[in-house]
Amino acid sequence: MKMTQQLDQTLSPQIHIIDGKEFAETLRQSVAIGARAFREKRGRAPGLAVVLVGQDPASQVYVRTKMKKALESGIDSFPHLLDSSTSQADLLQLIEKLNNDRYVHGILVQLPLPAHIDESKIITAIDPAKDVDGFHPINVGLLGQGKASLVPCTPLGCLMMLKDHLGNLSGKKAVIVGRSNIVGKPMANLLLQENCTVTIVHSRTEDLYSECRQADILVVAMGKAEFINAGAIKPGAVVIDVGINRVDKGGRSVLVGDVDFDSVGPVAGAITPVPGGVGPMTVACLMGNTLAAAEAIERDRAARY
Ligand code: NDP
Repeated sequence: MKMTQQLDQTLSPQIHIIDGKEFAETLRQSVAIGARAFREKRGRAPGLAVVLVGQDPASQVYVRTKMKKALESGIDSFPHLLDSSTSQADLLQLIEKLNNDRYVHGILVQLPLPAHIDESKIITAIDPAKDVDGFHPINVGLLGQGKASLVPCTPLGCLMMLKDHLGNLSGKKAVIVGRSNIVGKPMANLLLQENCTVTIVHSRTEDLYSECRQADILVVAMGKAEFINAGAIKPGAVVIDVGINRVDKGGRSVLVGDVDFDSVGPVAGAITPVPGGVGPMTVACLMGNTLAAAEAIERDRAARY
């Protein structure tokens, strides 16, 4: 399945788009087939609990999107929309309840949490088998050791698009801009597993642009609108733009990535757009992780009884 298209020749003669939206839809359909088989075998659907604390507008949009995609994928979603004043103790109690709920196979706590709640305590309280975001220290450790685990959805989606476009990644030089626990670090581990030569650059890197220019694969996750321009790109490199930034353009509020698409597109071998690139793949991978978690949990349960 190749999800790369050449953009309309009359608009941009050389830009190859990696279409995350189309790829995500294909992935979601295959999850839906798996979820149907699961329901037939187990008598219930895979279940995803979605926990949101507070009324952050962006988080509300993400949670709505995840629940809609769960429904379309044949996954039951159980929303827990909590007031911003919810205490850490109450949230921990809810996580404990969800850990023990037979109908819940995946637990997603939408980040960021309000400042009075310690995110790492909440993530660590989630049963690693239900940690569909892949943020629990056990899953982080397994990924670092190159063992099967629930892998964070955003880097997993990036890897799928890279493999779809390039095939074998072995020997490629990959540069990742950003070292967050959610994107940069797990992305580095995944690319190492594919035998790439991996460099991570960050805010203290000297001459970030010359590092980026070495890359056959450039993954950018920094949260700085249109920061990376053509001067950072080796001609023909595959560029994955993870960034989501809302900016004002000509009086209109629009979403842009961390990559300056107009300047980078013609130099890159292929590029993911924003929106329509990494974002939809992140949600589709969450559904894939929920199905995988459900299958593993029920397999374990069946083996025990
Ligand atoms: P973080 O803020 O956690 O990390 C940003 C990273 O970028 C840090 O490592 C930081 O370096 C580095 N950085 C920031 N500014 C610079 C700079 N000027 N030069 C070099 N490095 C820099 O962000 P996330 O990883 O969580 O997210 C990154 C972006 O991806 C955001 O726009 C976010 O919205 C988006 N995102 C999109 C997702 C999707 O589904 N499409 C999912 C998750 C995130 P240092 O460590 O030194 O501070």
